Amino acid sequence: MKVTRFAPSPTGNLHIGGVRTALFNYVFSKQSGGLFLIRVEDTDRERSKKEYEEDIISGLEWLGISPDKTPIRQSERSDMYQKAADKLIDSGNAYWCDCSPEDLEEMREQQAAAGKKPMYDGRSRNLGLERSDKTVLRLATPLEGETVVNDLIRGEITFNNSELDDLILLRSDGSPTYHFCNVVDDFDQGVTTVIRGEDHISNTPRQIHIQKALGYPDLEYAHLPLVLGEDKKRLSKRHAATSLNAYKEMGFTKETIINALALLGWSTENEIFSIDELIESFKLENVQKAAAVFDLKRFNWVSSQQLAKLDENGFFEVIKPFMENEDVYEDYPNYKKILLAMRTSKTNLKDIAHATRPFFYELDGYDEKGVKKFLNESLETLTFALEVLSKLTEWNETELDMALIKVRDYFNLPIPKVNQPMRIALVGSTVSPSLGLTLELFGKEKSLERIQKAIDFIS
Ligand code: GLU
Repeated sequence: MKVTRFAPSPTGNLHIGGVRTALFNYVFSKQSGGLFLIRVEDTDRERSKKEYEEDIISGLEWLGISPDKTPIRQSERSDMYQKAADKLIDSGNAYWCDCSPEDLEEMREQQAAAGKKPMYDGRSRNLGLERSDKTVLRLATPLEGETVVNDLIRGEITFNNSELDDLILLRSDGSPTYHFCNVVDDFDQGVTTVIRGEDHISNTPRQIHIQKALGYPDLEYAHLPLVLGEDKKRLSKRHAATSLNAYKEMGFTKETIINALALLGWSTENEIFSIDELIESFKLENVQKAAAVFDLKRFNWVSSQQLAKLDENGFFEVIKPFMENEDVYEDYPNYKKILLAMRTSKTNLKDIAHATRPFFYELDGYDEKGVKKFLNESLETLTFALEVLSKLTEWNETELDMALIKVRDYFNLPIPKVNQPMRIALVGSTVSPSLGLTLELFGKEKSLERIQKAIDFIS
């Protein structure tokens, strides 16, 4: 049974890269019937904010990535870290160091001048100093040998211990450092497998040293490839929205977000899946080593596939809040018919909801390109179409399609020359369901009124 954890620092809103890390942790634990835990790493009191913590936890909850136990907060666990520190002091694995920032700066300068890698040189190791308000607690790290990280994705990664200096565990004010809390908590939470971003690889051998000094069992590790923008730089707001909320607001369903994020750095034959199917087929060792490039087009593609999988009621349910944002409610005439007709017009719920607006509200205007390309030259066609349509006694898709054929045949025009100006007249742009259906949905009176308005607009 595997126990994994997602350990966010609440210094910003939930980032989609973080969601992917949480998702892989969640899926991996569930595959073994294990536990998925959350730990809030809020040791940085200045940058950590409660609102970010809430955003992270509620965002994951919305996606269904719920922890199996109540999340823990590092800021509330000082006693545990103090006990672990005492243990390291008693066993001789940690020592007090009183080097001032100036001492350290001078050390670095001398090392740099000698062409050496700047690092703490262990000068206080054997001084037997006592704790004071000027001392930090450091780990006495092995000076020789190697530390091997056995990564489930990358295989063995070897580090020379001589390159790793004596890490600070407690600051001079007594507060524990990130690495120290991280190791103590993984042990205390019973974590078996650490799955996190590649940017943590260099931390791992340092954390292994702390673990070993505390006599904790070894952990499994997997470092996930970074998520990059199309220019191969780390994904940031310059490339695309990065917060989970932004994707939620854009009208991507949770199924879409989970599906699309799982494909960042991992692949499978059947690219459209539910979270349960992901749990069945995911293989951590098949996660790629190379960085994953985020592509919004792919996100949109996954979205259209996921939306297509929903049954009608499922679709009505997920789009409802987006319709309400457009001020359109379920009791509006033809609400469901219009939604079904527009369901595949766009790739996300927000855009679909917005595209239905012309069916419920007056047009704000016509799409400029459409006007230039189709509307301006269509005075005669629209006038004739208006005449033909006004004579119809049955107003349904079949009759309307026949009437449209009649208009085309009369002028001997290709389909778009008749249908596109009509569409612009009705919905303001060239995007609408089949024209016969669009006309049916508008009803006779509204259709004729809009065609007349377009005629007036042209003349
Ligand atoms: N708090 C760290 C971060 O947000 C995570 C560390 C870990 O997963 O071990 O990057």
